[in-house]
Amino acid sequence: MGKGEIAVDFFDLHCDTVSECVKAEKSLYRNDLHLDLKRGTEYHKWVQTFAFWMPDTLDEEAQYALFQKELAAFRGFETDGDILIPYRGRAPMHKCSYLLAVEGAGLLGGRLDRLKELKQAGVSFLTLTWNGENRIAGGAGSNGTLTAFGAEVVREAERQGIVIDVSHLNRKSFWQVCNVARRPFIATHSNADKICPHPRNLSGEQVKEIISRGGLIGLNLYPAFLSSEEDCKSSDFLRQIEYFLDAGAAECLAIGTDFDGAAMPKWINGIEGIEILALSVVKWFGETIANQIFYGNAVRFCERVLFAAHETGCESY
Ligand SMILES: [Zn+2]
Repeated sequence: MGKGEIAVDFFDLHCDTVSECVKAEKSLYRNDLHLDLKRGTEYHKWVQTFAFWMPDTLDEEAQYALFQKELAAFRGFETDGDILIPYRGRAPMHKCSYLLAVEGAGLLGGRLDRLKELKQAGVSFLTLTWNGENRIAGGAGSNGTLTAFGAEVVREAERQGIVIDVSHLNRKSFWQVCNVARRPFIATHSNADKICPHPRNLSGEQVKEIISRGGLIGLNLYPAFLSSEEDCKSSDFLRQIEYFLDAGAAECLAIGTDFDGAAMPKWINGIEGIEILALSVVKWFGETIANQIFYGNAVRFCERVLFAAHETGCESY
């Protein structure tokens, strides 16, 4: 390809780069953010989930309008070259195979029919809340609970083949979602609170539950979710992996960087830093585990849950 050539396959379950590009009027192709297409396509295979972040501070219809605006901007980037390709199970080398996600389901505005609209727009993952409380459930910074409408959202999202993302939910809402969900769900960008106590990280019981349901957990690179010290090191990331592997998550663990949604450790400027992180995981845990975490587990989850949704129906899993 005549470019940097990074011999790593990378599947990222979460970044807020498109929202950031729209806000700061930057290009997705080349920018000074954590991620751009020029740097990302140096990886062999690259699947990137772009989340549209809906701030709690906006009212529901303003969130919906923001989603439309960001989606239109993304479509503009997409038609602007041949690098962005919707991910349907195959990731060509040195392209950006993408998935779309919505982070904060307040944009539904109380309307279940908007889930169909999201699906038709290509949305694969739906984070029910951000840190606050909305009409659906309570985020990690609130005391909210899953509402009757929220339970309907979970059921209808599953019917539409949209995977529920439980990152950002508070504990109570998480367990209420468990009572309603019939299909495996995902925590796109959350770590283990046994290693780094934080309300945004998952408890041991939550980790066990996600594993037993055949779900997926994306490790977040935000320093505050990795270490209570100010200076977070790569060993903090490796300790998270060690914990998850001991908990039996070898096939449920992936990466959800939170690029452009959170500050990054000093040793990771952006997507180019994933290579060194992957190499340290190879060194400590071996190549098979590293490949599973950085790529393979997410691929298999999509095959089993996301792409199978319409073929098998909701009851079969
Ligand atoms: Zn987030």
